[in-house]
Amino acid sequence: MRYRVNRRTGDRVSEIGLGTAYLYEAGADEAVRALTRARELGINYFDLAAGDGAMFPMFGEAFAGVRDGVIYQIHFGADYSKGTYGWSLDLDTVKRSVDRQLRDLKTDYINYGFIHCQDELKDWETYRKNGVFDYLMSLKDEGVVRHVGLSSHTPSVILEILKTDVVDMLMFSINPAYEYNRGEYAFGAVDERAAVYAECEKRGVGISVMKPFSGGQLLDEKTSPFGVALTPYQCIRYALDRPGVLTVLPGAANTEEVERLAAYCDATDEETDYSVVGTFAPPEAEGKCVYCNHCAPCPMGIDIGLVNKYFDLAKIGDSLAADHYAKLDVTASSCVSCGHCDSRCPFSVAQSERMTEIAEYFGK
Ligand code: SF4
Ligand code: SF4
Repeated sequence: MRYRVNRRTGDRVSEIGLGTAYLYEAGADEAVRALTRARELGINYFDLAAGDGAMFPMFGEAFAGVRDGVIYQIHFGADYSKGTYGWSLDLDTVKRSVDRQLRDLKTDYINYGFIHCQDELKDWETYRKNGVFDYLMSLKDEGVVRHVGLSSHTPSVILEILKTDVVDMLMFSINPAYEYNRGEYAFGAVDERAAVYAECEKRGVGISVMKPFSGGQLLDEKTSPFGVALTPYQCIRYALDRPGVLTVLPGAANTEEVERLAAYCDATDEETDYSVVGTFAPPEAEGKCVYCNHCAPCPMGIDIGLVNKYFDLAKIGDSLAADHYAKLDVTASSCVSCGHCDSRCPFSVAQSERMTEIAEYFGK
């Protein structure tokens, strides 16, 4: 397993985490086996917006004895009083739900307490008016909640809530379909979504990725909005290549699926190459580098994806990205305009020209 560090909290997070929308359907024995196996394979990050309240005792059984080795996202606004998942902005309902989850999980603390599912600004107003946000922050003051998270599908709402500067982790829906305005939760244009990644990276807010396969639609050519199936590993790498992303949280139905997901870290570059996505890119996405490194290798040894990522972030004021660029051994000024990257780029990026621009911007 590979890990990435959340700069605001110091947490070391596995690139592959687990969502829990439907693992409970496997039954308690198999679910506990799958969770135990996940941890053995190095997965340490778990989202608990479960599809059913039955999931929580299964986590309790699997992880109560190794609690400090796992990181939970718990959602203030996910309600299980009727068994299956429901959404609530009511303070008493949220309190009851959080208490129940802590009891079933056999724990007395929450790694990331999430401002849950804020897709419209009026939700955020209601969340504060009803006292749910204050309740979350009071538990943070008491040490029950260690860090604050935010889950949302909507870039404009995310950017607004990030201004509070309390959010340490964002849960956002990322996949090539949503990126190109295809699918139920495809909120925000290409540039608005890019602004979320850049803002998170700049603030050090980590991103955990929900719906990396667009609810499975992308994995089947019959349901894929592009008419072409992608593989899980292509989708995972696509998400992990976005700035700010720390972990991807696909769902798993059983132990075997957990093992397949964890094996992503051993996949080859060919298996994870998602350059085919470039053939679906709408006009507004053409010519924009997505940091995929499909154009590698550069004969001069430039890490083209990384250099572009630092450039895009530095331009919007991310001083850390500028520092990282300054420390690179090989920078854009080494480009000899051979044109190899231009001819290889599936996203129609005029990369050799961009290298000139990048070198001028950084002065190296
Ligand atoms: S120039 Fe094209 S191929 Fe190279 S990293 Fe950017 S998007 Fe990918
Ligand atoms: S054009 Fe520049 S960046 Fe692209 S492959 Fe050639 S030397 Fe490398």
